[in-house]
Amino acid sequence: MFASDLDTTIEFLKGVGPKRAEILQKELGIYTYADLLGCYPFRYIDRTRFYKINELDADLPYVQILGRITGKETIGEKHKKRIVARLTDETGTIELVWFQSLKWVDENVMRGKVYIAFGKPTVFNSSYSISHPEMESYPRPATLTGNLTLQPVYNSTEKLKKFSLDSKGIQKMQALVIEQCLQEIRETIPAYILDKYRMVNRKEALLNIHFPKDTIALQNAQRRLKFEELFFIQLQLLSNKQFRELKFKGHLFSTVGKRVNTFYKDILPFELTGAQKRVIKEIRLDTQRGIQMNRLVQGDVGSGKTVVALMSMLLANDNGYQACMMAPTEILARQHYHSIASLLDGRLIKVDILTGNTTKKQRILLHQQLEAGEIDILVGTHALIEDKVVFKNLGLVVIDEQHRFGVEQRAKLWRKNSTPPHILVMTATPIPRTLAMTLYGDLDVSMIDELPAGRKPIETKHLVEGQRLRMFGFMKTEIAKGRQVYVVYPLIKESEKLDLLHLEAGIEQMRYQFPLPDFQISIVHGQMPNKDKQYEMQRFIDGQTQIMVATTVIEVGVNVPNASVMIIENAERFGLSQLHQLRGRVGRGAEQSFCILMSGEKLSREGRKRLETMVMTNNGFEISEIDLELRGPGDLSGTMQSGVLDLKLADLVKDQQILQEARNTVIEIFQQDPTLSLPENALLKRFVDKKSRGIALDKIS
Ligand code: ADP
Ligand code: MG
Repeated sequence: MFASDLDTTIEFLKGVGPKRAEILQKELGIYTYADLLGCYPFRYIDRTRFYKINELDADLPYVQILGRITGKETIGEKHKKRIVARLTDETGTIELVWFQSLKWVDENVMRGKVYIAFGKPTVFNSSYSISHPEMESYPRPATLTGNLTLQPVYNSTEKLKKFSLDSKGIQKMQALVIEQCLQEIRETIPAYILDKYRMVNRKEALLNIHFPKDTIALQNAQRRLKFEELFFIQLQLLSNKQFRELKFKGHLFSTVGKRVNTFYKDILPFELTGAQKRVIKEIRLDTQRGIQMNRLVQGDVGSGKTVVALMSMLLANDNGYQACMMAPTEILARQHYHSIASLLDGRLIKVDILTGNTTKKQRILLHQQLEAGEIDILVGTHALIEDKVVFKNLGLVVIDEQHRFGVEQRAKLWRKNSTPPHILVMTATPIPRTLAMTLYGDLDVSMIDELPAGRKPIETKHLVEGQRLRMFGFMKTEIAKGRQVYVVYPLIKESEKLDLLHLEAGIEQMRYQFPLPDFQISIVHGQMPNKDKQYEMQRFIDGQTQIMVATTVIEVGVNVPNASVMIIENAERFGLSQLHQLRGRVGRGAEQSFCILMSGEKLSREGRKRLETMVMTNNGFEISEIDLELRGPGDLSGTMQSGVLDLKLADLVKDQQILQEARNTVIEIFQQDPTLSLPENALLKRFVDKKSRGIALDKIS
């Protein structure tokens, strides 16, 4: 026989065949031998530890016991037929019971012989037994699978189990593939990197991830394979970045002109924070280098990202370019437009707005003015990036609240021009460092890690249903002081009808507690026509209403400085970053602000942890780390691109250091060898070329 190849279809592995191959494909995505090797165990059972029978306790997981078979009998008839054996060591005796595979047991489990029995102990009438233990004769034979100290456990499914492809079955397949193909496993990481980080080679890593020689070998294998996983993600992200930088020239914003200077000296009503100044400087440097800027600005709620955006746009204007700013919702786009327009008050530049609600007539005029270069800054929603919107010379795009905005849409912007505009992405709330490195690894990152001076930290309280009257009392006191209050209800798709009922009941109760004419209530929810939403929102902004009852449509960006109380109903149903984002709607003025989290008495552990976190800290960076720990990265990224987060082995919470090493390694490689032409980087070049033919190139060209 010829040595089989790793690309061989799994069907041809001994004992598999077409039927099982089909199920392996469907259930686990395994097509080839290589795919199988890439299915790693998700945990291991320690087989170095032998339990004595008098140490057993029903809470133990799987254990192994070394003992002699001192009795064996078959009892019962037909489907009740079973074999019961007794296993004895120097401390006691337990029962082993089999209902299936009776023939095998009868032939292989021999009275008087010594075995290792492996299984989960259960207790009945204070004596212990194990059902369907695995039996190994002692001493263990020295085969690949037989002398394992750490037994791998693989993911399986009901379907797979029907075809004997349980964890054990998969382990057998792994053993076969490794026996046949071990020598064919090729290295993917250059030797000098392996040396630098003292990592084992790929062959050894794959062998030990499936059949660990010992704990150390397993750890080495895991570290190497986690590194590999993260390294290639970083290689792809940073090679995309590198590629863009080499391919696209960037518009030059070489001068700081009249608009920026006048704005800064005469218009800006406050002093910029140190962090704001630093980030603006970073943007300045980016836009003078002759390459296209792709920068992510991370800043906590209220850290003042908008002004940074505006000054960057004025910088574009000063250099003869137009700029646009894109927000995820109509309300937010309007808010940005109004705050920019009112700040500038007709001075310096012409600002306009384009959203889905812009009338056809307005649109026609706007398109003309845009193309003639008469509009300097255009604010809007996704409507901005539609193909029919043509700028005269778009130099900068600001994307606010990025997490609603995918890579695809960013790519669309790159395509908009032969020289693509600079791109500034602003996050709504901070995201954890590891996640940023993975999701936005192809962007440069700026941090606004300082709040404007004089902000009073928001006081957060958690109240349960029984304390509702206290909450109403508090609302009344604050409104009497002239403040405004938000009351937010969750609206989650699956239970939309129910949620609307909650909302309506809430409004009813609110009207009862807060009768006209002293109290006016604005109501905004997703089911309303846009026009009504805006009207209601505007009444609140103008101070005509004291209470704003809303679903989460107000979540992002909305800025009403006089609103100082945020009440969140069913707070346990919101995610942490959403809670933080909502809380950030208050604390924007000079007044002491408050956030009240209302929940039922009974909370899940996670729900409680979320509310406790909110009470404990106002720091968005801290909150985002806890959020990542609680929810895992997949959920956190929401609707965003998922591919980069499908990590097999690495964990963005636990493996931060490996991620940092992987990223630093790739950064160094590109610094020393931007085109990956050095012979020692040949492996990497092959990877990048293969990838960029498929994805990167058509995404960005
Ligand atoms: P976010 O980062 O959440 O988008 P905004 O840009 O909306 O925050 O700013 C929040 C509020 O803080 C706004 O009212 C803004 O005018 C104000 N602000 C921004 N920067 C400063 C500063 N340096 N000093 C004082 N107030 C500031
Ligand atoms: Mg904002």
